[in-house]
Amino acid sequence: MKPLVLVLNAGSSSLKYQLLEPDSGEVTADGLVERIGEPVSVITHEQGGNKTVEDLHLPDHRAAIGKALELFAAGGIDLERTDLCAVGHRVVHGGRSFYQPTLIDQHVVDEIFRLAPLAPLHNPANLVGIAAARALLPDVPGVAVFDTGFFHGLPDEAALYAIDRQVTEEHALRRYGFHGTSHDYVSHRAAEFLGRPYDEVNQIVAHLGNGASMSAIRHGHPVDTTMGMTPLEGLVMGTRSGDTDPGLVLHLHRIIGLSVDEIDDLLNKRSGLKGLCRENDFRAVTEMIAAGDEHAKQAYDVYIHRLRRYFGAYLIDLGTTDIISFTAGVGENAASVRADSLARLEGFGIEIDAERNAVRGSQPRIISTDASRTTVLVVPTNEELAIAQAAKVVVSGVA
Ligand code: ADP
Repeated sequence: MKPLVLVLNAGSSSLKYQLLEPDSGEVTADGLVERIGEPVSVITHEQGGNKTVEDLHLPDHRAAIGKALELFAAGGIDLERTDLCAVGHRVVHGGRSFYQPTLIDQHVVDEIFRLAPLAPLHNPANLVGIAAARALLPDVPGVAVFDTGFFHGLPDEAALYAIDRQVTEEHALRRYGFHGTSHDYVSHRAAEFLGRPYDEVNQIVAHLGNGASMSAIRHGHPVDTTMGMTPLEGLVMGTRSGDTDPGLVLHLHRIIGLSVDEIDDLLNKRSGLKGLCRENDFRAVTEMIAAGDEHAKQAYDVYIHRLRRYFGAYLIDLGTTDIISFTAGVGENAASVRADSLARLEGFGIEIDAERNAVRGSQPRIISTDASRTTVLVVPTNEELAIAQAAKVVVSGVA
């Protein structure tokens, strides 16, 4: 059997894991642990076609990873005896220091910790996952793959905030971009699918999941993206507002009297689709619209309006766009979002084919007409595979 990679994506109270073979992408097992640290945690594990869901108490990430290893073993995979070449960790913020997938040692751990103020909710959780993996699998090298990495070379005009330079430079405040692993994977997959050289095409990628972001890529180099210093900027998301007037934040504090933590909670957890119509799951929003719910329809319209605003910006920025790709839960599944966000753009050389757009599937596919100058695609993302492949490359280089 070829070597496997264990990919870990540790959130503040959750852990996603996948054990896979990086060349073929074949998944041996995967799972999700939720509510880590609460009285009752839930682990959903899938291996060899069997899915199990178990409620139990998992006090921390180490216990959660330990439980996952137990389930691997129960299904016949003893990780200590398996040819496991790396543990690949999704790390949200690499700041300016890290953009390449990086072999984890104590110095790297210290640096990720130092960057925590830039991603206070994410980096500490990622570090807990790293520590747990190092404790439980001490002989397996760990590799950090940074969500910001793909965007490290954003040109200054897209990366700088127009705020007093002294403040931004002193505190490293700039637009970093996120979901980089997905934008990287999908844009490469799109070019490969169409048989076009990556560095000769202009692309726009719309990653529309619970979190959502868009990127503009000129000849293989990202030139803009919608998320900024934090993953709160840009598109309307499941529970996040995306762009707002910074003055609104001041108003919420100064006039309405909300504390910083309350504003954080409002903009990150009670905004976006959920804020507008009480539901963040796109399928539920679609059902509410079908049932005549006006707030759900408004939420959908705001979501589409913001998408179109950024499509417009990126089409102008790129000048000509060869490929537009939709990916992630909403982008891959919601045909109406794809059709509505690119409607009436025939004058810009973009024309969706209704029949092609209605086709469902797990492979990349074209949804534009043959006459469309820009080829519009659905390209399923696979961040775990991208992390596993990056991790394998790093450990092969040092072996
Ligand atoms: P994340 O990884 O950010 O949690 P996903 O990429 O899994 O998010 O996307 C989750 C979103 O995709 C949810 O809003 C969900 O409702 C939506 N989604 C999943 N399947 C469908 C579908 N068949 N039709 C419409 N939306 C869908």
